[in-house]
Amino acid sequence: MYFASSIMKNTDVIIIGAGAAGLMAAYELSKAGKQVTILEARDRVGGRIHTLNDDMHTELGAEFIHGDLPVTLQLLHEAGMKAIPLPGEMWYYGDGKFSHGYQQMDDWALLLKKLAELEQDTNIGDFLQTEFGEERFADLRKSVVKFVTGYDTADPFKASAFALRKEWQSEEEDTQHRVVGGYGPMIDYLVKQIEKNGAEIYLSAIAKNIHWTHGRVEVITADQRSFKAAQLIIALPLGVLRADTGEKAAIQISPSIASYREAMQQIGFGSIVKILLQFKTAFWKDEAQTGVSLKDMIFILSNEEIPTWWSQHPEHSTLFTGWLGGLPAERKKNQTDEEFLQQALQSLANMFKLDTEALRSNLAAWHVANWTTDPFTLGSYAYDMVESVEARKILNTPIDHTIYFAGEYLYEGVAMGTVEAALTSGLETAYKIL
Ligand SMILES: Cc1cc2nc3c(=O)[nH]c(=O)nc-3n(C[C@H](O)[C@H](O)[C@H](O)COP(=O)(O)OP(=O)(O)OC[C@H]3O[C@@H](n4cnc5c(N)ncnc54)[C@H](O)[C@@H]3O)c2cc1C
Repeated sequence: MYFASSIMKNTDVIIIGAGAAGLMAAYELSKAGKQVTILEARDRVGGRIHTLNDDMHTELGAEFIHGDLPVTLQLLHEAGMKAIPLPGEMWYYGDGKFSHGYQQMDDWALLLKKLAELEQDTNIGDFLQTEFGEERFADLRKSVVKFVTGYDTADPFKASAFALRKEWQSEEEDTQHRVVGGYGPMIDYLVKQIEKNGAEIYLSAIAKNIHWTHGRVEVITADQRSFKAAQLIIALPLGVLRADTGEKAAIQISPSIASYREAMQQIGFGSIVKILLQFKTAFWKDEAQTGVSLKDMIFILSNEEIPTWWSQHPEHSTLFTGWLGGLPAERKKNQTDEEFLQQALQSLANMFKLDTEALRSNLAAWHVANWTTDPFTLGSYAYDMVESVEARKILNTPIDHTIYFAGEYLYEGVAMGTVEAALTSGLETAYKIL
């Protein structure tokens, strides 16, 4: 990999962004003999995959494989890596006590039935008001909104009911996995293969200006380096693509492509904060404290300020991870890390009837991953709005055989907003070029 230099580079294909999508496209193109140059803004590759190489392989970004997802599992296999199905129990904390299993959603089957009957797409917020507006459905409405906010990191009054229907129907059959050793080594494998095939990766190269004409592009970086190629893949997060020109990573394309700009606004992009707390002891396993046996617990859902928590079960670990998604994460995005930490400790203190100071003194290390204010992501991951299917058709259409887009937000399958989505999009974009 390369850092600073003022060279002007000529190549077949430039890829902006060395996340899963950009790297997968580079892998496929370089394998087919294309000369590829990758420009990456950060001083590391992987994007929203960021595995810390400590004893635990702590994941600051992507962590799970949400289903039996073929491209991810195949790539892991090729890299000699393994994914294990997630064992462990799901718990819910509410009304001052822990209960085993999902929170009661008595009307879930009815919700799926009504969704199946829905003929015209609408946002899930309006759908709930129309179909389940009565007082007796208040708990169902609250649960659905919590799920859409937490899991999809979405605004319920923007999220497409059709897309959620697709997600929820497929979820029932799927197994969740975790990557043994974390996602990081999978990215390392891609980089090794890409470099073996002769591609070059430039780190700390923030693309700022793109000039193009049929069959020719020039990318100019923030430090005025110039890179030229016949074709360009823009593999940036949607948050960056939509950013105001004043933002650090925002790009300007000239001549501009108005219909594509508009389409980018028609796909949702959520907010997320992930709070990683490494304790000295796994206090949640202390049955005397909790009154229940949480030794096999993997997830806890709650109504606390930081509502979702998970352990590393079945690994023996003292890492406990908090998750705040959607509009609550958006509203709090400018908080300091210390404020997030305090809210996380308070949430745990409430659930486990502990003192926040006692919890704080049990902390060995902590990290707040606030992706919403990270200048090279500016959000979490994509979700569908009502207009997104049409918007994606536009964005998946190459511009004059010269500019292509890739990224998780362009994927059409059931695993939206995932590593699988990014890898698949990268692969498909490479196929289009080849
Ligand atoms: C907290 C969190 C948890 C997640 N958990 C999971 C999970 O458990 N399972 C799962 O499957 N998915 C998960 N995801 C989603 C998954 O991480 C993403 O869908 C996927 O990694 C996106 O890949 P990408 O290549 O599309 O984008 P990115 O990984 O964001 O790659 C884009 C790249 O572009 C670079 N870039 C930005 N601006 C510029 C610029 N101007 N010039 C040059 N380079 C630039 C960025 O630095 C980045 O490297 C999670 C995401 C987050 C944020």
